[in-house]
Amino acid sequence: SGGHVSIDEALKMAEGTCPVLAVLDADGLPLYLGRCERLATPAQRLALIARDKGCTRPGCDAPASMCAVHHITDWAKGGPTDLTNLTLVCDHCHALVNDSADGWKTVVMGKDSPYRGRTGWIAPKRLDPTGTARVNDRHHVGQQVATAIDSSCQRWGSRAA
Ligand SMILES: [Zn+2]
Repeated sequence: SGGHVSIDEALKMAEGTCPVLAVLDADGLPLYLGRCERLATPAQRLALIARDKGCTRPGCDAPASMCAVHHITDWAKGGPTDLTNLTLVCDHCHALVNDSADGWKTVVMGKDSPYRGRTGWIAPKRLDPTGTARVNDRHHVGQQVATAIDSSCQRWGSRAA
């Protein structure tokens, strides 16, 4: 409603309900948006489009308009419908995610990764015996350019030294 309440009051008001929790930055952009139902809200989809920009499986160039919302930790296994557990995946790539030996796995890249918070994909062992989680850079050209510039600057810096 736009009013302000304390966290204690908000928690008390939410008891026994199925709330949507939104945490916004100073500009009103979503930092966190979670809910306790399986399907993502339109606001969550918009936030995913802003973050993921398209299918997150490495090498896939399917745009966000061709993607569904995927629970990184499956909803049936207790994975919440929170932005931190959701990612965009096209239908073809979505069908590849499963628990079989030939299935792909999805994970959230950890804090030690340069891709912290993004979706990592782990290929089946027959394709990648290392089990390394990889991200899709096809929709993040700006990050690729920044990484290339940093790398180039480091090389120039080391030559000058
Ligand atoms: Zn895809």
